[in-house]
Amino acid sequence: MGQQLNCHIVQDLLPNYIEGLTSEGTNEAIQEHLASCSDCRQVLDSMMTETEGFQAAPQKQINFLKKIKRRQWIVAGISVCIAVSILLAAFYFFGTRKFPIASSDVTISDVYQMKDGSIHFRITAHVNGYLSNVGSLVDTNREVHRIYERRRFFSEQDKKPEKLPEYWSTLDSPDPTQEKTIIYYQGKDDSDRLVIWEKGMNIPKATAEQEAAYERTNPKPDF
Ligand SMILES: [Zn+2]
Repeated sequence: MGQQLNCHIVQDLLPNYIEGLTSEGTNEAIQEHLASCSDCRQVLDSMMTETEGFQAAPQKQINFLKKIKRRQWIVAGISVCIAVSILLAAFYFFGTRKFPIASSDVTISDVYQMKDGSIHFRITAHVNGYLSNVGSLVDTNREVHRIYERRRFFSEQDKKPEKLPEYWSTLDSPDPTQEKTIIYYQGKDDSDRLVIWEKGMNIPKATAEQEAAYERTNPKPDF
């Protein structure tokens, strides 16, 4: 192609020229033209930068996406760690952990005897958490009361009295060897005890009003 090319033909060829698809002869003709035509040089320049941009873009995008993915993974990892920690903490605080309330944190009041021989009393627990569980147990000659609390996030200063429902303990048993002789509150351990009533203890008799309340709460079956 030794001859002069016109601008239209050169510019039509430029895309192929850039990509190296044109023949050697064509290349020479194009270069010859470009050397003397600033218009076509400009077109070539703008095509080159466009092509570069085009080629560079996907790589940049991939790097960017990789970065985002990596960040997402990190965020997801941290979130999982935080969630697991919260769950563990919640399990620790709200789980099955129960603490027996010491007898020094318990007040016994309103101990009196009903007409039928039952013993009435009230337990107030001074807790710095909240009452979790009230347990009582009767075996051979004793009745044992225990109160538990959950209190991990409360300080000792936050103690508040929690009144438990009234108790009426029946003493008589068909078997005299099973007769109840003691009712006590059991605190932290066997040595942490508070006697509520003991056989032979001198306690007041219930008033008529108290008897009436007893009847209301524990109606006797009619025979
Ligand atoms: Zn030209």
